Parts: sequence; structure tokens; C-alpha cells
Amino acid sequence: RKCLKRIKKTQHLNAYITVTEELALKQAEEAESRLLQGSPKGILDGIPFAVKDNFCTENIRTTCASRMLKDFLPPYNATVVQKLLDQGAVLVGKTNMDEFAMGSGSTDGVFGPVRNPWSYAAPYREQSGGAEDDSEWVITGGSSGGSGAAVTSLTSFLALGSDTGGSTRNPGALCGAVALKPTYGLLSRHGLIPLVNSMDVPGIVTRSTSDAAIVLEVLQGRDLKDSTTVQSPTSHAGFSEDFDVRNLCVGIPKEYHAPGLSQETLAQWSRLADLLEGAGARVREVSLPHTQHSIVCYHVLCCAEVASNMARFDGLEYGHRSTEDSSTDAMYAASRHEGFNAVVRGRILSGNFFLLQQNYERYFLKAQQVRRLIAEDFEHAFSAGVDVLLTPTTLSDAASYSHFIQADNRTRSTQEDVFTQPANLAGLPAVSVPTALSSRGLPIGLQLIGPAFQDGMLLSVAHWIE
Ligand code: GLN
Repeated sequence: RKCLKRIKKTQHLNAYITVTEELALKQAEEAESRLLQGSPKGILDGIPFAVKDNFCTENIRTTCASRMLKDFLPPYNATVVQKLLDQGAVLVGKTNMDEFAMGSGSTDGVFGPVRNPWSYAAPYREQSGGAEDDSEWVITGGSSGGSGAAVTSLTSFLALGSDTGGSTRNPGALCGAVALKPTYGLLSRHGLIPLVNSMDVPGIVTRSTSDAAIVLEVLQGRDLKDSTTVQSPTSHAGFSEDFDVRNLCVGIPKEYHAPGLSQETLAQWSRLADLLEGAGARVREVSLPHTQHSIVCYHVLCCAEVASNMARFDGLEYGHRSTEDSSTDAMYAASRHEGFNAVVRGRILSGNFFLLQQNYERYFLKAQQVRRLIAEDFEHAFSAGVDVLLTPTTLSDAASYSHFIQADNRTRSTQEDVFTQPANLAGLPAVSVPTALSSRGLPIGLQLIGPAFQDGMLLSVAHWIE
């Protein structure tokens, strides 16, 4: 009830597309009576959670923040949603995002931009004059900005995001939450409306690393409905609250000193490296030489998969259907034109261009080869004895909305992801953890990237930092 009340109180954040009040109250009552009888349904009984609006929820509107799906009622729950419900967790609502998860700001959805709760918090108000005049509020990052805002405005205890190129970690960093992108294949994508199948993973946003470890334990595991899932070869009980960082080898990738990195984020990064070293970890510089190609490589592969994924939205089976009826082709074209925003349409066009017979080898195949090189960079670092890589999550703290939307929408949807995309290209686990407030009074997050299936260890190191 308190969470629902807070959702009302923080409506100006626009964090939720749908609030499932009735259902939540019913689920909470059932949980309460189970708990009073001493027979909880599972480890999350009665815990309120929120879900990004690109995960299917049975008979609950699932829009991807797009006109295309604005009335879509899925007939089933995504596996990860079902697993939370099976543990007794209570769904409070579906969170706002960039349309079809394409973006880094949560500014490009059909329901309007999400506002970062820190815009209204004391530190930002005191340092920067705040959002009093309603023009200087800051973005949440994205595309899972609603999930970031839901957790940090305390309207839910955990939220699901999706992470294809950084969409869970980016808002995690800018909103000051813990945000985990698990190893590719560890969590089921069944029921997550795809962006880039070969990179998408469900992401976990929580208030603390211990909470993230609990949720990871609940969600991980092979799912017969997603053939890319595996049973983890390592134990996730691997998470430890008193992990010893002595002898841990921390790599600092030199290529991550990227153009546009703010002085303050850089200073936090160095401070954390020094802290780890002071506590007995070995900290050393490593090279991931193909990093500079990751944005372009991601862009080609993303657009190619988007072009093929979005073909399902033809106005016939589900989604928006135009009233244009002069021919079937005209109906397809009009439905897609009316249903998708410019970012989505731009990627479909680019993707089809990259996949043209005469372009396939030059773009798609080449990008696949570069992807392998990026993955091999990580393999080399880990096989040379590095346990985790420490990097910034974002270039700087959150931009103000007015500043962010000045960039053209293609730049703003991908340029922000320099530090996060490589882990998706390589399928590796990565976590963003809040470390400090900037001089503007806004959160700064740092990222840890680890070897595949070392998600538990990664959270342990993140816990030490936290
Ligand atoms: N910003 C990236 C993009 O627009 C990543 C999105 C994501 O992770 N869903 O594609």
C-alpha cells in the first residue's frame, strides 16, 4: 500500500506506463495472510516489484512504449515475471522506457520522458538550483529509465529492465541503483519482446547488491521456452557479503579513457581503483584494443536484427492497424509508419540496407567478425589472470532533459553506451554500482565486467564497493 501511495505521489516522474493497483492489492493481501500463517509462497513473498513494459504480462497491457502495441494484452507472462510471481512477489506496475528499448535516455517513448527522482532531491536542488522551474530536471538514462526511477523513488523494491547495449546499467548509474546485466543465456528471454536477440538479456535493478543476488538466484536457469538458456556451470550462491578482495586482480582497460569522459567520473574511477589496491587487490592496466569499434559494430548488428525482428509487426496479427485499405501492401506500410517512431523506422531502414545481398558481406559479416575480436579481447584479459574489469558505466552524471534532446536521436540513442555495449557484444556479466554524488548532486556509477557465469563473484565485488 505504501508503494502504491508513493507511485501516486511521484506521478510527475512518469516512471510507470501502467499501475496494476487492483491486482497488487489482491496479491499483497494473499501474501499477508500466507505470511501471518507462517507459510510464505517463496523468498519474495509480498515484495513489490515493477517490470519494464517490454516484458509480456498476462492480460496486462504491454506496450514497449510504442503506438504499435498501445493496446496489446499478452496471453502469457514472460518467464522471468512468472518466476517472481511464483516466489510471491507483488506486481505494482509496468515501467516506462524508450520505444522498443531503443535509446539511452528514456525520452523517446510514446508516453513521454521519464524524470530522474534525483532532479527533485536535496543535493541537486542545493548544488544546481534543481528542477524548481521545471526546465532543469535530469534524465534517468535508458532505455529502462522507468525501472531505474521506480527503484530509486522507492515505489518498488526491485524492477526488471532489459539490457541489449546498456539499457539496465545506464539508468542504474544515472539513478543511483544497483543494475545487473547477467551473463547472456543465464536468464530466459521468453516473453521479452526482442530488440537484438543475440544480445538481449533481462536486467535486474535493485537498491542493493544483496537484493540483486537474491533476485538473480530466483531468475537464473535453463528455460525450455528459450533455447539459448543454460544451467549455470558455476554456483550463484557464489555471492558473498564478506568477499575478500585481497588477491583479486582488477583490470583497468586503458581504452575506456574515452573522449567525453567527465573529470568527476574519471576521478571516481581512479578513487575506486586506489581503494581496491589499498585493500590488497592487484590493480593493473589492461588493453582491450578493439573497443573503439564496438559502437559501430553494435549499430550494424543491432539494426540488422531489428529489421528482421520488427517484420512481425505488420498490422495483421497484433498491434496497430491503419485504416488505409487500398491494398494489403499499403496497409502494411501505413500501419508500420503510424505505429513506429522515427528511431525505430530509421533502424529498420538501416538494417535492411546492411542486409541487402550486395551489402551483407561488407557490413553484417564484417560486424560479426569484429564482434568476435571484441569478445576475444575480454577472453585474453581474463585468461591473463584478470578477475574483473573496473570501468565507468556512463560518460558523466545525468544530463538535463533540455540538454539531452539537443543531440539528434541516432547519436543520443547509442553514443552514450561506449562503456556498456562491449559486454553485450561478448555476452559477459556486468554490474553498475553507485559510488558517489557528483558536484551537481547527482549519482555516479561504476561498472564491473567479469568472465561468463561469474555473476555471483561480480556482485560480491560490487558489494565490497557499495
Ligand atoms: N542505447 C542502446 C540502443 O539504443 C541500447 C539499448 C538497450 O540496451 N536496450 O540500442
